[in-house]
Amino acid sequence: MRRALFPGSFDPITKGHEDIIIRGLNLFDEIVIGVGINSEKKYMFSSEKRINFIKNLFIKSNKISVTSYEGLTVNFCKTINANYILRGLRNPGDFEFEKAIAHTNRKLSGIETIFLLTSVETSFISSGIVREIILNNGDYRSLVPNSVRF
Ligand code: ADP
Repeated sequence: MRRALFPGSFDPITKGHEDIIIRGLNLFDEIVIGVGINSEKKYMFSSEKRINFIKNLFIKSNKISVTSYEGLTVNFCKTINANYILRGLRNPGDFEFEKAIAHTNRKLSGIETIFLLTSVETSFISSGIVREIILNNGDYRSLVPNSVRF
């Protein structure tokens, strides 16, 4: 059984995340989406909202589950018995950042991080850009799944 954790802030989930999750299902039997809760971080959406956007999106899939977590990602992987971490890569900036974290996580726990390259159509999308559009009353709907409505 190959179980992967897809960790992130998902503030909110975007079509970029959705693409990585759906393609990840070709590699893993099960994907747990871990919505990070970091008391130092300011979020636009509460953890309940961030989780509900994702739950409603994947309501029909029994291979995908959603949960929040606090603390080290590798510790949470152990708790849920996930041997892999799934992450998406959009650009060299993502790569440099992710490289250090993936090396650290493997050193700490032996857990491998598997990267999927963003799809061309969603490569420019980030939660940050979506939040910026929302804050300025723009039409964000083409960048996020239909479940992200408020
Ligand atoms: P974090 O705060 O951990 O970066 P995010 O919610 O921003 O959380 O991102 C979670 C994961 O999704 C990261 O691996 C990120 O690189 C990836 N990701 C975000 N947007 C995209 C996208 N448009 N295409 C591919 N991967 C993406």
